[in-house]
Amino acid sequence: MTNVTLKYATRSVPRYTSYPTAPHFSNAVNEATYEQWLATIDPQTPVSLYLHVPFCDSMCHYCGCYTKVTKQEKPLRAYSDQLVREVALVASKLPANQPVSHIHWGGGTPSILPHDCFLMIVDALRSSFHWLDDMEHAIELDPRTVTPELAQTLSLAGITRASLGVQDFDLKVQQTVGRVQPYEQVKAAVDTLRAVGIEKINLDLMYGLPYQTLDTIRKAVELTVSLDPSRLALFGYAHVPWMKKHQRLIPEDKLPNAEMRIALFDEASQALAENGYEKIGLDHFARADDPLAIAARDGTMRRNFQGYTTDEADILIGIGASSIGKLPQGYVQNSPDFGGWERAVDEGKLPIARGIALDQDDRARAAIIMALMTAYEADIAAIAKAYGVALEPLRSCYPQLQELEADGIAERLDDVIRVTHTGRPLVRLVAAIFDAYLQTGKGRHSVAV
Ligand code: SF4
Repeated sequence: MTNVTLKYATRSVPRYTSYPTAPHFSNAVNEATYEQWLATIDPQTPVSLYLHVPFCDSMCHYCGCYTKVTKQEKPLRAYSDQLVREVALVASKLPANQPVSHIHWGGGTPSILPHDCFLMIVDALRSSFHWLDDMEHAIELDPRTVTPELAQTLSLAGITRASLGVQDFDLKVQQTVGRVQPYEQVKAAVDTLRAVGIEKINLDLMYGLPYQTLDTIRKAVELTVSLDPSRLALFGYAHVPWMKKHQRLIPEDKLPNAEMRIALFDEASQALAENGYEKIGLDHFARADDPLAIAARDGTMRRNFQGYTTDEADILIGIGASSIGKLPQGYVQNSPDFGGWERAVDEGKLPIARGIALDQDDRARAAIIMALMTAYEADIAAIAKAYGVALEPLRSCYPQLQELEADGIAERLDDVIRVTHTGRPLVRLVAAIFDAYLQTGKGRHSVAV
């Protein structure tokens, strides 16, 4: 990366896993709104499901997820029962046997659920929805929890893809971030999953952690690729201790500075390229024959709350406390407060706490941001036309591009905006120009690189 990248690296911008972003959700969208939106879903249209399990065995100091630690089985069983109820509740608002093309389990650590509970929820999903034959059934896993018994359970559940968090293999880095998992342990987890037929393995690395050096990250990449994942993510650690109090355990004086963050990302990207992984979007990598690499090449790749994805469904139904769903009409978020979520489900109410209804301007801007984040190029006039919105308000954003253009981060030819090769790590800054909500000052975001 360049000095120009460094100039912008510490600017704070959203990650744009959605537009508008979550800080702009409000209680103007509620259970009644969601129920109306669900009622409009076409019975033939495949939907995606996201199940959130907000529990972990211990808290990693770098964690940015919505989760809490539990050592007890009782709350996990209670949560599982409630998930089953919520699955039935949501399904009751939809046509019978709504087709499902993608199920994703995130958290937290979804595999922390007792195995019989996990299978009980899967049964509820099977009986409430029609699983398409080529449905992707993905789960996020903590390698420290993968046992032969868990792998068998996942196999029985029909899991087809597993994502495992690696971060870095260096012991000092691992100790400082509160998550020690030697290479042998991660390898055993991957081997155990493959032994039961779960072949699609994603491994997630992280840069920007305390004590990381160019050597540690290169070594982490080399060890990671030796496990032959089909996809990798290289996430930047987002240090937001004002939002995530446990991040105060991360020694700030040991965090790499902006220049070093850039160097770490470059070193890891370079090592991944040398090992045959194509760079996909901002922070993903895949083998050339992986569906994500194919989707990136043919222009069908999307971005959602899990990052870059091949999931093309326009409807995402969130299940579990704090889950976010998306429908053509807008976004909805379940209550993040356990008590509120539980009570609503007990009363047979969709547990929606907030959301946002989209207007045509939001949809057009979302399409621009999606195009920039996935293809690094957006034809503003074509998008305005496709969404039937006036071009001039979008053109009025162009002056904000001038500094980025002058610094070689973006180029504009008439109404087509392209992020340059050097500007790609800063694509979120280009996307932010079209974010009509950013100026309202809600939300404090992580740094651009
Ligand atoms: S296992 Fe994942 S979700 Fe749980 S605390 Fe660690 S990083 Fe957060």
